[in-house]
Amino acid sequence: MTGQIELGLLVAQARKSFGGQLALRDVDLEVLTGEFFTLLGPSGCGKTTLLRIIAGLELPDSGRIFLGGREVTHLPAAKRQVNTVFQSYALFPHLNIFENVAFGLKARSFEPDEIKRRVGDSLDMLELTGLEKRLPHQLSGGQKQRVALARALVNEPEILLLDEPMSALDAHLRTQVQEELRRLQRRLGTTFILVTHDQDEAMVLSDRLAVMKDGQVIQTGAPRSVYSKPTNQFVAEFLGAANILPARRDGDQVVTDLGPLRLSEAPRWQEGRLAIRPERIQLEDESPGGAFNWIRARVREAVYRGESLDLWLDPGPVRVRTDSRGHLGPGDQVSLFFPPDALVALDDQPM
Ligand code: ATP
Repeated sequence: MTGQIELGLLVAQARKSFGGQLALRDVDLEVLTGEFFTLLGPSGCGKTTLLRIIAGLELPDSGRIFLGGREVTHLPAAKRQVNTVFQSYALFPHLNIFENVAFGLKARSFEPDEIKRRVGDSLDMLELTGLEKRLPHQLSGGQKQRVALARALVNEPEILLLDEPMSALDAHLRTQVQEELRRLQRRLGTTFILVTHDQDEAMVLSDRLAVMKDGQVIQTGAPRSVYSKPTNQFVAEFLGAANILPARRDGDQVVTDLGPLRLSEAPRWQEGRLAIRPERIQLEDESPGGAFNWIRARVREAVYRGESLDLWLDPGPVRVRTDSRGHLGPGDQVSLFFPPDALVALDDQPM
């Protein structure tokens, strides 16, 4: 465990089952102090269970949890320097905003003056000043969300856990709150761990993310590296759109249904699959004679997406994402270039 001092969180071999069904399968996880880290995965993959174990709201069957280098596996939630913001915000409906935010400090017997100062700072930071006397039902969704954040941050936790805190907001407000959350985290330098099933949200917010499936962490890394170098088909398809091509090695190239292709990094397998993002395939009218990785194709379908145009082309079908100002339509002939560094050889184990 080198560099443990820098680690905000270490999860070692955490396992949890409910009624014989495994929700977490020996999960290992490292989150650095001050990172915005996201657990990303489909419904039921175990991300909330992992978050609850980190919070101390759930006990693992086996495995160990360290916060800031200290083991907390059996420490109750209230004794951990961790606060959680839940999906439902869980505000007390009969307490006004000031009292909601002050609740944790009162429970810990802080002096009234100190409570007033801390709550004031916290409300100010989240632009809630002036709303102290309102009850939660008198606030908008975005304001409630900010109160929930203020209530968690007023305790100055080492780690803030966020369990799908934006899922109740409409798309426009969610984008706005995401930006605020990112700025807030940068300013505070607090370690944030977010749970979401929304890949865009994970990409926008995270320094690093972990993609989960079936109780396991499948791939961890910075959004850009996980997006551009997925290790397997599940990650490639969960984090955006991907063309998946079955392939077989033949000398220094691979043979696919589209034709022979060259990769900048040779696959470790003889037979397997390649992934390429639709926006990485280049589209030209003509291919240069004799060059490699060019394929002639015909447009089958064009789907207008506002900021881009998706073309489905034969052979394949291959999906190419291009500039929405283009005017290609069904039947048009084009040349496709597959840049060698955009072709990723996936692990051979299907996930
Ligand atoms: P979602 O995005 O839908 O919240 P998730 O990835 O957060 O999903 P978990 O809530 O961690 O997933 O659940 C993982 C698995 O454990 C699921 O199969 C779920 O049904 C099961 N599970 C979670 N909590 C309990 C519980 N208290 N009792 C029984 N089964 C549970």
